[in-house]
Amino acid sequence: MAEFEPRENQITADTLVVGGGIAGMTTAIETAEVGKHVILLEKTPSLGGRVVASNQYFPKLCPPTCGMEINLKRIRINPRVRVLTLADVEKITGGPGEYDVQITLNPRYVNERCTACGECARVCEIERDNDFNYGLDKNKAIYLPHLMAYPFRYVIDPAFAGDARMKKCVEACAYDAIDLGMQAKTITAKVKAIVWATGWRPYDATKIDNLGFGKYDNVITNVMMERLAAENGPTQGKVVRPSDQKEIAKIGFVQCAGSRDENHLPYCSAVCCLASMKQATYVRERYPGAEIHMFYIDVRSPGRLEDFYVKQQGDAKFFFHRGKVAKITEVAGSKNLILEAENTLTGEITKMEVDMAVLAVGMVPNTADAPPPLETPLDDFGFIVPGSENGVIGAGTAIRPLDVSATVQDATGATLRALNLGNRR
Ligand SMILES: Cc1cc2nc3c(=O)[nH]c(=O)nc-3n(C[C@H](O)[C@H](O)[C@H](O)COP(=O)(O)OP(=O)(O)OC[C@H]3O[C@@H](n4cnc5c(N)ncnc54)[C@H](O)[C@@H]3O)c2cc1C
Repeated sequence: MAEFEPRENQITADTLVVGGGIAGMTTAIETAEVGKHVILLEKTPSLGGRVVASNQYFPKLCPPTCGMEINLKRIRINPRVRVLTLADVEKITGGPGEYDVQITLNPRYVNERCTACGECARVCEIERDNDFNYGLDKNKAIYLPHLMAYPFRYVIDPAFAGDARMKKCVEACAYDAIDLGMQAKTITAKVKAIVWATGWRPYDATKIDNLGFGKYDNVITNVMMERLAAENGPTQGKVVRPSDQKEIAKIGFVQCAGSRDENHLPYCSAVCCLASMKQATYVRERYPGAEIHMFYIDVRSPGRLEDFYVKQQGDAKFFFHRGKVAKITEVAGSKNLILEAENTLTGEITKMEVDMAVLAVGMVPNTADAPPPLETPLDDFGFIVPGSENGVIGAGTAIRPLDVSATVQDATGATLRALNLGNRR
């Protein structure tokens, strides 16, 4: 059944999964494939979470389409999965085996007649920051979230639904698919278990004053780098620096930007070292002569991911520098950057000039400021404490920073815990 627009005010399922990233999708698929009914609820207009915004994923460096398309197909064809997008959980009452969940379904302003032809966006006069590309470019107020979006349907940014200029889009739609009068709707879901897979967001780099993000054009974050390198990204895959679109000749990766730091995120996000090494390959493929400089406290590449690290060490133009970058300043005129780092073993200070700096910012759980509306134990950083008898069942990066393969394994565990709760009644 998959994409679902409930006509009735009350729906039922065995499990409710909140968050449609790779963790939530995995739990939904696995629940449905053992014969149980599941509601997969996503806050944004489409499924996929942060993974669909990456260019490639380590260790195999395949594009997100690889695994994601298969998962989307399994969701689409399974009559036991019902997907709600643009949905928010407002309230949860009851207990294990018998929950009542109040859900708000927010308006998309575009109905199921949409063929994604794009004519509405072509005539639309309003531009907005493209959040899928972390503000590196603009898109229209009516937009397709991204090329792998499920549902593959346009959506209107609610900030502009009441803008008189949107009428032009309505007139341009040959399918009568735009409805500016669409209203939010409240429904109740009766479920036996709730899995919370609301994932992560990047740490706000503007809080790290000394590293110049938001002040110097050529300081970007690791998530922005993923979009710069993507062929469907703001530069069609050219890794160029924002100030002048110059190709990269020398790039600096700043590890632990705000991580393992009592003033910001005291913990390690586990994926950032590997993510930077992966991003170095994006630069290397496009500009074989470019120099890569990675500044680190210590390199973390758990388990078999060590092979990926060893491979990068064999690259003669990939320089690893032990040192925490304490300060970034801009060179007047060239807009190059000076990275100033202190060797964490010897205390020696080094300075290096680069074209662009990528801050490897860590992962902040979305539950840190939007916890589930049911008493659930969270740790000091806002991650859900796994294995608790109380509250919702956490899955994926809602419980700790994880890579994709560990997220999928964790989501399988959450599926089983949810089925177990359901079987108690
Ligand atoms: C720079 C960087 C690069 C990375 N590269 C790799 C890589 O190459 N290989 C790899 O294995 N891992 C990589 N990772 C890690 C990977 O991104 C995560 O493992 C993955 O995103 C975890 O999936 P998730 O479903 O737990 O969370 P998410 O991807 O964050 O998905 C969570 C979903 O929940 C939704 N949501 C949030 N709040 C709510 C709510 N209240 N209600 C409903 N829905 C909600 C979100 O919109 C989202 O769709 C990288 C991480 C970073 C920081």
